[in-house]
Amino acid sequence: MTDPSDLARRVREGELRLHELDDHADPETAATARRLFVEGETDTDLDTVGEYAFDAATAEPNIENMIGGTQVPVGVVGPVEIDGGAVDGERYLPLATTEGALIASVNRGCSAIRAAGGATARVLKNGMTRAPVFTVEDVGEAATVAAWVRENTDALAAAAESTTSHGELTDVTPYVVGDSVFLRFTYDTKDAMGMNMATIATEEACGVVEAETPASLVALSGNLCTDKKPAAINAVEGRGRTVAADVFIPHDLVEERFKTTADAIAEANTRKNLVGSAKAGSLGFNAHAANTVAAAFLALGQDIAQVVEGSNAITTVEEREDGLYASLTIASLEVGTVGGGTGLATQAEALEVVGVTGGGDPAGSNADALAEVIATAALAGELSLLAALASRHLSSAHEELGR
Ligand code: NAP
Repeated sequence: MTDPSDLARRVREGELRLHELDDHADPETAATARRLFVEGETDTDLDTVGEYAFDAATAEPNIENMIGGTQVPVGVVGPVEIDGGAVDGERYLPLATTEGALIASVNRGCSAIRAAGGATARVLKNGMTRAPVFTVEDVGEAATVAAWVRENTDALAAAAESTTSHGELTDVTPYVVGDSVFLRFTYDTKDAMGMNMATIATEEACGVVEAETPASLVALSGNLCTDKKPAAINAVEGRGRTVAADVFIPHDLVEERFKTTADAIAEANTRKNLVGSAKAGSLGFNAHAANTVAAAFLALGQDIAQVVEGSNAITTVEEREDGLYASLTIASLEVGTVGGGTGLATQAEALEVVGVTGGGDPAGSNADALAEVIATAALAGELSLLAALASRHLSSAHEELGR
């Protein structure tokens, strides 16, 4: 067996580079050698970083220069009852976070939703996007290219779909800015979050555009996609799953569970989430949807940077005659139950808890179910935080649980 200390020494002496260790040892030994090297260079002790439970070889597609694993505490919320398009019944949701009081808050909302008979949830739209940018001579040529694309979507779909057995091209929308042409490709990526799938498929389709039109590709991603940046296009058009959840809670239950009234929660929502967000120029008209989305993404092997899109959510609350109606609509929740980090051991176990392991039957139904569960839990988090604000219990709850 290769000695990791010897490998670390060879890196120190400039004989090997950190990333070359994988060519000289199995993934676990290479990680140990890197850890030893970094410990020596930084005068640190990385024993805990080295205590990871997943198989280093399984993580190879997910990480370069691996030195170990980071551990984040995982809690659980639920069960929450969901009448969904893909989920029907009670589900638990593991959440990974270091924010004290978050799990307790989301769980309080889940328990109120359950006592009220459950939430309704639906995936309303599904489409992962990639938008390459092309250069053309002038605006006239840009219009010609855009028209060609509109008339030849079938040829683009044939090229794109030749690269995947699951993905389907559902739309290509051209956008022109002077001599730049952006083509926003949208795919049904089934149970995959789909960013790699969409990127590979789009590259193939770009070859057809370049062969058949005067357009020349500048960048496979032209930022109109829009991946991992706040963008109005995702809030309006959606990206990944557009998913909504709602609930009706009778007055007596609101008062019993939230120690406040439907009227006070509705007023907090209007003045904070709607008026306050509008004044701030925010894209997210919600209280803290990103909290639930981030904790779920971390626990379930999703791409954490896409929490940016997952915070594109609007919360509505109304006092109705018999109680409180609340909804949360997330415009761009990018989730998958295959690919990405979903195969790592702890993440795979967490997906099993939700009941969405691997590909669904029919394909896409597991990712739909995951989106519905996350949206319902995020709605629970919205209700709980709004109620804490309305009853002025927010800082005391954080003092009690988070410090
Ligand atoms: P992936 O791990 O690259 O691929 C998943 C593959 O699983 C699919 O391409 C598909 O193969 C296969 N598959 C098997 N059963 C399936 C099912 N039921 N439904 C759908 N696909 C199924 O995952 P990805 O979701 O395309 O991409 C996610 C990764 O992209 C993450 O690691 C993320 O961090 C990364 N990412 C990439 C970019 C980029 O620009 N490339 C940007 C952001 C994030 P077939 O296609 O052969 O059918």
